Amino acid sequence: MEIKKGIAVSPGLAIAPALVLDAQEFRITQRRVNPSDVPHELELLQKAIVGSIGEINLLRAQVAQKHGEETARIFDFHLGILNDPLVRSRMEQALAEQNFSAAYAVSMEMRRHVRDFLEINDQYFSERVKDVYDVERRLLRHLVGGRKEGLSRLKSEAIVVAHDLTPSQTASLDRTHVLAFATDAGGLTGHTAIVARALGIPAVVGLNDITADASPGDIIVVDGNRGVVILDPDEHTLEEVRQQQEEHIRVVQNLSEFRSLPTITRDDYRVNLLGNIEFPNEVTECIANGAEGIGLYRTEFLYLSREREPTEEEHYEAYVNVLEMAGERPVIIRTLDLGADKFTQARTREPERNPFLGCRSIRFCLRHLNIFKRQLRAILRASVKGNPSIMFPLITQLTELRQAKMILHDVMEDLEEEGIKFRRDIPIGVMIETPAAAIKAATLGREVDFFSIGTNDLIQYTLAVDRGNERVASLYTSTDPAVLRLIRHVIRQANRLKIGVSLCGEMAGQPEYALLLMGMGLKKFSMNHRAIPEIKQIIRSTTIEQAKNVARQAMRLETDWQILNYLLEETRKVLPGFSCSSGH
Ligand code: PEP
Ligand code: MG
Repeated sequence: MEIKKGIAVSPGLAIAPALVLDAQEFRITQRRVNPSDVPHELELLQKAIVGSIGEINLLRAQVAQKHGEETARIFDFHLGILNDPLVRSRMEQALAEQNFSAAYAVSMEMRRHVRDFLEINDQYFSERVKDVYDVERRLLRHLVGGRKEGLSRLKSEAIVVAHDLTPSQTASLDRTHVLAFATDAGGLTGHTAIVARALGIPAVVGLNDITADASPGDIIVVDGNRGVVILDPDEHTLEEVRQQQEEHIRVVQNLSEFRSLPTITRDDYRVNLLGNIEFPNEVTECIANGAEGIGLYRTEFLYLSREREPTEEEHYEAYVNVLEMAGERPVIIRTLDLGADKFTQARTREPERNPFLGCRSIRFCLRHLNIFKRQLRAILRASVKGNPSIMFPLITQLTELRQAKMILHDVMEDLEEEGIKFRRDIPIGVMIETPAAAIKAATLGREVDFFSIGTNDLIQYTLAVDRGNERVASLYTSTDPAVLRLIRHVIRQANRLKIGVSLCGEMAGQPEYALLLMGMGLKKFSMNHRAIPEIKQIIRSTTIEQAKNVARQAMRLETDWQILNYLLEETRKVLPGFSCSSGH
């Protein structure tokens, strides 16, 4: 049994066989063949080895010719593995004695190699791990390349173990069979984590080398509450996990009583809780969990389900759908926030070197006016069906906001000329997700109807920490005094200008920040709908005076840890049974 610690990004516990994906997403499940098929599998293995050696020899010759013999030597290591009689005989044994498929035998042997190398704890051998994966991929391409299967069509329950998953892969996971996932890479507010929470898939990310440690087909446990993965658990541990699963279900059920209660403090101070959505069908779940509207609709997820640009009609249908499901409730439609870790990188011919600081979000839209206008037309056409607002993401400059509004007005004029009805008074807002925007809140605020504070990005840009990079995950902290001062400043400016202000980053749904944010004057929280009942429970258990006091005290502290510990303590005073599960 081995316990690995990562970052808890989506709550819940699961026990199932591991489905380990290699970098090219080959699914290598533990598969046995009929004894009569063993000779055939041996033949396939032999062919894969010979084919791989042929390819590498060719590559080696080409590289030697172009870059010299010295450079070409890197392939000698690959050839060494493939020609190693011990490696071959172990794979053959796995076939002959255990009747494993050739693909599984390859995968098992290569992973054993990786583990051995990592155990040596020497830089030379650690660097060779990538070469072993390379050899594995090459062999698997010969063996299963032609029948690569999607994750959306599994036949039995599994826990997906991968180096990383893109938000779109996560969204297309087959929910009936994929019980959880665990990845080497990732952080708490990366979009893969956000999608996992939206779909309710327990997940742990940032485990560094889980793909090397987990063997395909072996039973593993993913504990998305504590950020732990257990490999090869013993019977006693499994029993404990089953009890924790039951306890988790009980906690969620108990919280459900809060869904329909009003969100007011003990001294009658009213707060609005809204839902964040990525897909239209989440509206129903948001409402069921007590959301009073949609505070963030991440429309760029429309790009997920298709390889091409959505048409205006496809945009329109999605918006009408959301607005009709929401009824009278407000819906904030955020215009496309493409770029960075969302899709465009994979689709561009030349990926950007630094995409989080590149042409993402509103910058992308202002340079691709056809895409932007198509979306704005669809939103405006749908606007008569409900109560929408438009929100522009990643505004850092006033001129960007003015340009975006100008384009919106152009689109309004076009619609007017065409005689198409829309809501001319549709409220316009901006996301505050960079220090620049936060500091200029007073200026931006004069030209919009509302702000929404996007702390996921605000934290990464304030602290210069990539929100999806597990190596710096410990530096990504919501309670850094710089981050908190920016948030407080934005709330104060909005309240002074009497415009709306909400917070729609992941912080809004993390219970330990509820008192602080409310005490800073925030009245609208928008979050993953599953978090609503617990946040409501906290708000209903406190008073606004208590929350203001917590905010005052917290802002006097000097370090993120002091502030976090203080907030955890104060939250426990309000909710005695509270145990923090959000990645700390
Ligand atoms: C944010 O940055 O806080 C936010 C809500 O937007 P996203 O997570 O989609 O970048
Ligand atoms: Mg953002």
